[in-house]
Amino acid sequence: MAAAKKSARKAPAAKKRAPAAKPAKAHGKAKAKAPARQRPVAHAGVPASLVPLKARIRSIPGYPKPGIVFRDITTLLQDAFGFRKLVDDLVQPHAGRRIDAVAGIEARGFIIGGAVAHQLSVGFIPVRKKGKLPWETIGVDYELEYGRDRIEIHKDAITKGQSVLLVDDLIATGGTALAAIQLLRQAGANIVGCSFVIDLPDLGGRRRIEQMGVNVQALVEFDGE
Ligand code: AMP
Repeated sequence: MAAAKKSARKAPAAKKRAPAAKPAKAHGKAKAKAPARQRPVAHAGVPASLVPLKARIRSIPGYPKPGIVFRDITTLLQDAFGFRKLVDDLVQPHAGRRIDAVAGIEARGFIIGGAVAHQLSVGFIPVRKKGKLPWETIGVDYELEYGRDRIEIHKDAITKGQSVLLVDDLIATGGTALAAIQLLRQAGANIVGCSFVIDLPDLGGRRRIEQMGVNVQALVEFDGE
């Protein structure tokens, strides 16, 4: 009897506690409805973390003109694993080396170079196309397949003797990177290396840069233009 009385006394208490279960249920429902964190799988059946960087780059034949295969890194950047690995792989060879700043070439070099600079805990210098920088600039003209172009930095972007790592998405003929090296050196930088995601070895840019006494790192190679 005493036990029965005891449980009878407990029953109302349990009822009182019942409303507290509602928010817990609601919380559970909300969790279930939240969208799953995106973990894109680039190849069916292969976990995203195992897909090599090269397979995450989209190749677009005939863009921007016939005969060119555009190597599009946006598919690599939008992938959390790919972007993380890309930055880690670019930074890793420089661990323990003196780097004072990262310079990135407009525009994809800003995305990659900015992330590399952040990871190295150093500043970032934008190397921009002609007329884009708001203050006083110094620049270098360089040859394109058709015509000429010019890249610029702010005239106070470099402190003389700074060790600078140059970053861009892709090296083809090397014309852009060579102009950037020339410009940064003219401003007083010591170029400690050039880092690219992609090298097109058939176009010889890497060799040209190495001939200027600068180490080149590229994570992925593609044949052809
Ligand atoms: P280059 O000066 O010939 O080495 O060309 C390098 C610059 O042009 C880089 O900033 C690249 O973003 C761009 N570029 C050249 N060829 C390609 C390509 N096949 N796919 C994507 N970008 C390219």
